[in-house]
Amino acid sequence: MRKVAIYGKGGIGKSTTTQNTVAALGEMGKRVMVIGCDPKADSTRLLLGGLVQGTVLDTLREEGEDVELGDVMRTGFADCRCVESGGPEPGVGCAGRGIITSINLLEQLGAYEEDKQLDYAFYDVLGDVVCGGFAMPIREGKAEEIYIVVSGEMMAMYAANNICKGIRKFADAGGVRLGGLICNSRNVDNEKEMIEQLAKQIGTQMIHFVPRDNIVQRAEINRKTVIDYEPDCGQADEYRTLAANIENNDMFVIPKPIEIDALEHLLVEYGMV
Ligand code: ADP
Ligand code: MG
Repeated sequence: MRKVAIYGKGGIGKSTTTQNTVAALGEMGKRVMVIGCDPKADSTRLLLGGLVQGTVLDTLREEGEDVELGDVMRTGFADCRCVESGGPEPGVGCAGRGIITSINLLEQLGAYEEDKQLDYAFYDVLGDVVCGGFAMPIREGKAEEIYIVVSGEMMAMYAANNICKGIRKFADAGGVRLGGLICNSRNVDNEKEMIEQLAKQIGTQMIHFVPRDNIVQRAEINRKTVIDYEPDCGQADEYRTLAANIENNDMFVIPKPIEIDALEHLLVEYGMV
């Protein structure tokens, strides 16, 4: 089983990209589990047709220790398994701890066991904070393969670079590696070339350039992935290509984060400033 985590700046498109990629892998016949690690609990709704499922933390709060796998895991599009870890009540407690609790419970309930024959577990991890609990999937070796969603916008690139610092920190002790940058386009000038260059400087690759397309929002309003909502459109094929590139990926590196000056230079060089 490949253990994949998706990181990136808040709002960059992690949950959308993850779910579409999972849908594409599902179509290919892969068995996939998605674990949402964001208190917003919106990492699986497109795969579940809008169903808002009880989070692991809510279920634990309501039912105590007597929880079964079926209480926290639902089956969605293409037979993928969906879990939302959830979070503490707003303003109280540590959201990172929710992730730890959830993964521990899933392990305890046998969600990852051999007989499930999972090909992939995908962790959709909140925001760009690579500290404390949010780094947990990396730190504890729960995720071994990281993809960072990024765009040509300064703050998205800045966040991606910071996440690389986090990966680097844990890469020596554990086995975590960076599998590539996913450019989720914001239609910035020269975006593809710039992110390819950023990837090169960090020592990784741009694994795919996902165009910006309003079909993503239309599918979202209909509570579906693009793959499910309009399987024949170009954007669905973009996600299929991304999924295939991940499936066939053999470039896993310890990233070399760059200096802020180098990041700014990139933006100047590619005509952003
Ligand atoms: P994150 O999980 O990183 O916070 P989301 O996946 O929730 O971000 O995406 C934020 C918004 O961006 C969503 O409304 C989604 O529909 C939109 N979005 C993501 N990717 C694309 C794309 N390629 N084209 C158009 N809209 C997109
Ligand atoms: Mg999200």
